[in-house]
Amino acid sequence: MPPAPRVRFAPSPTGFLHVGSGHSALANWLFARQSGGELLLRIEDTDAERNRPELVDNVLEMLEWLGLTWDGEPVYQSQRGDLYRDAAAKLVAGGHAYYCDCTAEQVQARAKERGGKPGYDGHCRDRGLEPGPGRALRFRVPESGATGWVDLIRGDVAFEHANIEDFVVLRSSGAPMFLLANAVDDADMGITHVIRGEDHLNSTPKYLLLLQALGIAPPGAFAHMPLLVNEQRKKLSKRRDDVSMADYRDRGYLPEAMVNYLALLGWGPPDGVEVRPIPELVELYRLEDVNPSPAFFDLKKLSYVNAEKIRALSPEAFRARAGAHLAAQGVDPAVLSEASAALASLTTEVQERVRTLGDVQPMIEFLYVDEPTMDDASWQKAIVKGKAVVEMLDATIAGLEALGPDHWQPEPIRGAIEAAAVTAGHVSADGTAQLSKAQGPVRVAVTGRSVGPPLFESLAVLGRDRTLARLRSTRRRLG
Ligand code: GLU
Ligand code: ZN
Repeated sequence: MPPAPRVRFAPSPTGFLHVGSGHSALANWLFARQSGGELLLRIEDTDAERNRPELVDNVLEMLEWLGLTWDGEPVYQSQRGDLYRDAAAKLVAGGHAYYCDCTAEQVQARAKERGGKPGYDGHCRDRGLEPGPGRALRFRVPESGATGWVDLIRGDVAFEHANIEDFVVLRSSGAPMFLLANAVDDADMGITHVIRGEDHLNSTPKYLLLLQALGIAPPGAFAHMPLLVNEQRKKLSKRRDDVSMADYRDRGYLPEAMVNYLALLGWGPPDGVEVRPIPELVELYRLEDVNPSPAFFDLKKLSYVNAEKIRALSPEAFRARAGAHLAAQGVDPAVLSEASAALASLTTEVQERVRTLGDVQPMIEFLYVDEPTMDDASWQKAIVKGKAVVEMLDATIAGLEALGPDHWQPEPIRGAIEAAAVTAGHVSADGTAQLSKAQGPVRVAVTGRSVGPPLFESLAVLGRDRTLARLRSTRRRLG
């Protein structure tokens, strides 16, 4: 029987979890959980500047938020320097690595002079330099042949040695390079499947050459996940795109929506049902079925999945999540309790209409503030550019005034507004009220926005006095 799979997620501390990294982390997690294997976590902090806890915290926090649990304690490369230096010494002893005192400028200048491929030219290969200050250790890549592997996602992949430069394994400072630490650790940790992003595809032949030179058997399988791209088909970048997982949490995406959506990037379940509980994704996900081409990180689809996940919550769970979201946004406790009460009065109406938890507060705010904040675009569209707005407001005010406090319920309110619509001339061919157009100015006057929970329920909850006061105040503004 083959050993139980062991995979790892190996983030470099960057201060945030990139959604692309989250995508790879998820693939590892799904695979580990479906195969009864283990998911290890390794922090790749060989870079001295990166060896700072605050650069790791957010990564761990986001993995926890997503529910991508790992097994055992995280392993830190910064604590394993000896392992890498021993490996480097073995490479030297076996004639697989040599010291080089070329500066980056010299390497570049020679490449420019020579034309063609940039990169290191093997200048120090046979100079027999001893270790010393300013000397890096480079791997001696065989001159001919190729190194390849069977990728679970990409099939046969091979790189000609002629296209791989003699890469650095120890910096001139003596610090181990990522490539060496990464390969040595995977071997040491007993990793069976290396699942990572496409950006590491070029590193894999070097990784395999290193292990071969060290006499270590490589992991059984590699899977290089597709690159995530934006609408312009460009690689997601920190500058152009929202790539930080924390930003999505802060805007009110649910972790289960993010996980579900990320699973769909490059993959789809055989039955075509895309939005589903996480345990089903664990069961159905297949690395072999992941498409290697770049996957479009589609915000519209993410928000669709999020809205579906929000609707799948029980009303109690929805209120609890919305409340926790507001609290996490730093909303003050007095406002929070008003907002919670407001949400309790219109839970399903709001739950059916929001796409993110961040949409909740703007949708219910009109219920607990003295004056709703007027959204300019809504004002322009419904009040300034609307038809028969004054007539509609006058007729609505008169109709609602005629409704006694005992009749302040959604149905009588609807009746009054329908009658007002007819008075203001919003009628369809069959003589009935055309509410879709007519209710715009009323909604904006009362809630400050043109989208929100159903109008009659909203007015019923807001109360007669406040509703009438806001309608009259808008009417006065119009002169
Ligand atoms: N530390 C690398 C990164 O964050 C990942 C390397 C790997 O997964 O092998 O991109
Ligand atoms: Zn050199």
